[in-house]
Amino acid sequence: MTDVVENQKFKVQPLIPVSKALELLLADAKAIQLVEQVALSSVLGRTLAEQIISTVDVPPQDNSSMDGYAVNFASLEPNKPTHLALSDRIAAGDIPRVLTVGTVARIFTGAEIPQGADTVIMQEQVTVSEQGVCLPAKVIKGQNIRPKGQDIQTAEPLFERGRKLQPADIGVLASVGINKISVYKPLRVAIVSTGDELVEPGEELGAGKIYNSNRAMLNALILQLGMKVIDLGKVADTLEATKAALKMASERADIIISTGGVSVGEEDHIKAAVDSLGKLDMWRIKLKPGKPLAYGKVNTVPIFGLPGNPASALITFCLFARPYLTKLQGGVVETVLCFKVIANFDHLKAGTREEYLRGVYQEGKVERFSNQSSGMLSTASRANGLVVIPVDAQVHKGQLVDFIPFSQLLG
Ligand code: AMP
Ligand code: MG
Repeated sequence: MTDVVENQKFKVQPLIPVSKALELLLADAKAIQLVEQVALSSVLGRTLAEQIISTVDVPPQDNSSMDGYAVNFASLEPNKPTHLALSDRIAAGDIPRVLTVGTVARIFTGAEIPQGADTVIMQEQVTVSEQGVCLPAKVIKGQNIRPKGQDIQTAEPLFERGRKLQPADIGVLASVGINKISVYKPLRVAIVSTGDELVEPGEELGAGKIYNSNRAMLNALILQLGMKVIDLGKVADTLEATKAALKMASERADIIISTGGVSVGEEDHIKAAVDSLGKLDMWRIKLKPGKPLAYGKVNTVPIFGLPGNPASALITFCLFARPYLTKLQGGVVETVLCFKVIANFDHLKAGTREEYLRGVYQEGKVERFSNQSSGMLSTASRANGLVVIPVDAQVHKGQLVDFIPFSQLLG
């Protein structure tokens, strides 16, 4: 009976639109910016804690973009072939001598251009004989040379604080000679799975039970963000057990993410537990799937109570928890890219909530799975993104719809 009373006060909350909910959440996210120095080989996916300014030019000297012959343009006959003696050979990594006036030097891709040369002619256009080399008539001054600093210049700002480092960024850092970087310490994210029906993979599935899929999925989602998981396992469906788990989580982690137990049933205790240990800020979103999302603080530690249905847990994580975690980590929250694509389906039942349909985009069109049950996770793993259907909207085949590839929502 107390459970019924416990949940009653939460029933009247209005639904909050997705964009408004995200705005409120991000406004409430306070970055935790503890810094550590990490070797370049280990910074993939980590968040920069410093601005990076280049101290070198890339490339450091003018170099050849071709295998060919380096020459001074002034030595060439205007508009006709030129015969010159070969005086030198410069491979990548060599320190070149000054080019003798009126001669050419054999040069290879990436080799430094010798002083006295300003042009490279590719080897396919040159004839070599005992007498020397014959250079073609049509040559443009400065051709086939990558000038010093063409890519990056000394004192050029490369990255700002808050950037999540991608493979090409790491290559750029290496290209300017950096081998250690200040990044934010990985956020400690506690995960808690509520539900008496849950059994862990590898265990025997007894009567009335289901395997715990959210735990493994959340673990992966958080690792992909470069954060540390503190896995508190499964919690029984009682208020006491839920409170104890959340309290323990708040002592060990920077943020808590739970799944299940956020609806209005008597077996749902997350909201009441958060309410009694701290503050419940909001809990119902105008979103399908994923209406019953809870957010609040346990003591001062933020908590996301994601819905238990695995597809809802995934989608609410992507839409709300991921940007929030990014901000908490000190990262810049990037706008999620949404593409207009042609719908290959009819969606005639206009809804009162914004819908995020699991879909597959291929060959210029998006198809959505006909069964969008929030309990079905296999369609989320087969989908390559989400089709966004606004409130009150119908979709007819051939119409343009918004599509967010999962690559925009994960990692
Ligand atoms: P709840 O929000 O606790 O009412 O859960 C909603 C639905 O999601 C129920 O069918 C649960 O059995 C299911 N569910 C909750 N947690 C998990 C989980 N960790 N793994 C798989 N299914 C879950
Ligand atoms: Mg439950």
